[in-house]
Amino acid sequence: MSNKSIGLSDDLQDYILGHSTPEPAILRELRAETASMEDHQMQIAPEQGGFMALLVSLIGARRILEIGTFTGYSSLAMALALPEDGQLVTLDCSDEFTEIAKRYWDKGGVGDRIQLYLAPALETLAEQLGQGQEASFDMAFIDADKENYIGYFDHCLRLVRPGGLIIIDNVLWNGSVIDPEKMTETTQAIRAFNKYVAGETSVEVTMTPLGDGLTLARKL
Ligand code: CA
Repeated sequence: MSNKSIGLSDDLQDYILGHSTPEPAILRELRAETASMEDHQMQIAPEQGGFMALLVSLIGARRILEIGTFTGYSSLAMALALPEDGQLVTLDCSDEFTEIAKRYWDKGGVGDRIQLYLAPALETLAEQLGQGQEASFDMAFIDADKENYIGYFDHCLRLVRPGGLIIIDNVLWNGSVIDPEKMTETTQAIRAFNKYVAGETSVEVTMTPLGDGLTLARKL
């Protein structure tokens, strides 16, 4: 994994970024801070952030659910694209990473749009359903522990409204999904998840090679 799309050279990534709406300065700053961290490859690629922000605008999203916050790049990119009264609910377990996220959300002026839940995501998702949040989100982004992807997706299917969008990160796992030598638990979980989504009839699905593979599933 890296912070650019699979197979994309540095030069071509520069070209793509140079011919797209510029990455907001606050996101560039957060990317620079995260780059020095050991787990920096967990951050989405900048071209993916721009794409996701555009999706938020295109579907007129007002409420977004995110599973996996990390240092907040994707939540910040999406929250900046929300209307002023929009809301983004993001779930994570790490104090350390989300402290950085909170600092940048505030600095980017969207701290009041973002609600962070620090707990195992499946628990928070069940709570959301218990609180009558069924079909209340316009969009969901899944980017957390891959072993739970199917569980996350099933919850998102209930929490997102009909016509809403569920997007899922790392579905190509740096190409491991087609390498028979790669049999780690994570790789197998992603393969199982991709098969599961492709067979799910309540969504329209397109898998894209953006970032580390990004699946878009529109709830019918
Ligand atoms: Ca990811």
